[in-house]
Amino acid sequence: MSTVTAPTIHCIPVLSDNYVWLIEGDDRATVVVDAGEAGPVIEAIEARGLKPVATLITHHHGDHVQGLAELTQRFPMTVYGPDSCRRVGVDTVVGEGDRFTIPDVGDFAVMATPGHTQDHLTYLSGQTIFCGDTLFTAGCGRLFEGTAAQMLHSLDRLAGLAGDLTVYCGHEYTTDSLRFAAHAEPDNPDIAARVREVAAKRSNGEPTASASMDLEKLTNPFLRVRVPALREAIEAYVGDRIDDDIDAFAQLRHWKDDFDGLARL
Ligand SMILES: [Zn+2]
Repeated sequence: MSTVTAPTIHCIPVLSDNYVWLIEGDDRATVVVDAGEAGPVIEAIEARGLKPVATLITHHHGDHVQGLAELTQRFPMTVYGPDSCRRVGVDTVVGEGDRFTIPDVGDFAVMATPGHTQDHLTYLSGQTIFCGDTLFTAGCGRLFEGTAAQMLHSLDRLAGLAGDLTVYCGHEYTTDSLRFAAHAEPDNPDIAARVREVAAKRSNGEPTASASMDLEKLTNPFLRVRVPALREAIEAYVGDRIDDDIDAFAQLRHWKDDFDGLARL
């Protein structure tokens, strides 16, 4: 392990509801996570006098990569990411099990976490997890390319990591995700408490897309498909018994998509 003091993590809102995370280590050396838009990131870097040394890309969706060219033109730096993102500026392709050190910032490990997309990567450093659109605070990404089995496996692996971990996600979706969580598990007091806490933060304009993994396990339905109360609720939604965890997860994801559809009517 390198001996960098715990980094400071800055949250930069970009586009309509995306976040770019800046991991500031020693001597202002900084790692950028995702690059959906360059302008606000460049502004934040300049305002704080940061020295960007690398960017980590989680997946190929435009709202995570389309600012990369402008960002690296302004600040030339190494860009880590999946093979599918070479064409948008990734120069150091990484995948499952890779490890690398970014001087003055820290050691990083890469996990392949398919489900939202096939190429999705999650980056771990110290007690922090940058999980893009795989795990959301109180939710999970839609299954655009992957299967329910892949996403459940990815989420199980993240939830199974040891330590007092904090997750940093790609979008400000917590309010909507919790609305569904409370609908699916109306008697869960931790969800009710989190609804109040997130509402208070949002009314102050604060981001809520980072949280402890411990809180996620208590309140995120997509990490709770084996919890009897939620399992029964999923069975009630489907109108049938479900013996298989992957099936339960797939139905839960359908239920959330239905719920979001109804919410927009
Ligand atoms: Zn995405």
